Amino acid sequence: MKRPTRILGWFPADPGNYVAADRPRSHPIDRIILHVTQGSFAGTLSWFGNPDSGVSAHYTIRASDGAVAQSVREKDIARHAGNPAYNETSIGVEHEGYVDDPALFTEAMLLSSTRLTAYLAHKYGIPADRRHIIGHVEVPHPDDPDRFGGANGHTDPGPYLDWERYMHQVSAHLLVIGGG
Ligand SMILES: [Zn+2]
Repeated sequence: MKRPTRILGWFPADPGNYVAADRPRSHPIDRIILHVTQGSFAGTLSWFGNPDSGVSAHYTIRASDGAVAQSVREKDIARHAGNPAYNETSIGVEHEGYVDDPALFTEAMLLSSTRLTAYLAHKYGIPADRRHIIGHVEVPHPDDPDRFGGANGHTDPGPYLDWERYMHQVSAHLLVIGGG
């Protein structure tokens, strides 16, 4: 099955910003973690390519038109969740914008993101529910199960992602894909 979203191209993360692996053979892929970039699309891709950043995500979606850039192969482990165990078993999807900006999830970005999530859920057999499709804010701190947002307490994707609508769109795309 082809990826349903328009892939702008390959904007590789620096090899020091992810862990080479052989997923799903080496680690199961059972979560999709949604993020907000807190910066521009171009700035985010360049940050992932910068060996000083130490961070990366598999996909980044542009707000203006929903175009998708890929920076890490799905088989490799991106560093996006601030929790190694969650990184190992997830795909990280970044959305251009800021957590406190209500204009964040444009229709184009929402459509593109939900299509990408449905594609990934179908491909890896990830249940399309809120236990497996989560925000960075829901990732536990690696050393303290009472804290969330990964090691650095991130709050993305923030209050302006309408989760009910997001999950409804993912389910609708899955019906089209045939994965029910
Ligand atoms: Zn994040």
